[in-house]
Amino acid sequence: MEILAHPNPALAQRAADAEPGSDRGLRRLVEDLAHAMYDAPGVGLAATQVGVLKRVLVYDIDDGLVAVCNPVIVSRSDEVELDDEGCLSLPGITVPVERACSVVCEGVDLDGHAMRIEGEGLLARVLQHETDHLDGVLIIDRATAQDRKDALRRYHELHTG
Ligand SMILES: [Zn+2]
Repeated sequence: MEILAHPNPALAQRAADAEPGSDRGLRRLVEDLAHAMYDAPGVGLAATQVGVLKRVLVYDIDDGLVAVCNPVIVSRSDEVELDDEGCLSLPGITVPVERACSVVCEGVDLDGHAMRIEGEGLLARVLQHETDHLDGVLIIDRATAQDRKDALRRYHELHTG
């Protein structure tokens, strides 16, 4: 399964709620997402990045594969951290992005059971990054105007001509 790259229009779309339980395709989707993520390699991937507009994300931060359907960031720390962030849909560049240092994310698993993930550091960053994807938001949309301009210039230099 191919990971779409900016400026593919699917990456700017808001994904629809997933329906674990009734949608038999979700298990296969999670397998495909995991395969694409490990193959890249990356630490997280959202379904929109493979052109499937369903609210599903996967991640693996050295602790095994986790899949979350309909993830919602229900709380964010006031404390924020600015760090360079990359994205499999913007290969070759990183952009400084400010993120909450810790978050709580709620969602459901593939069987429809409630999940609650408390993350800090890299996990918090990945949860915020991947839920952004499900709303059609990329790291360049989170960057300052100047950083966005610089990043897109580098990106176009890398990927054209
Ligand atoms: Zn990304």
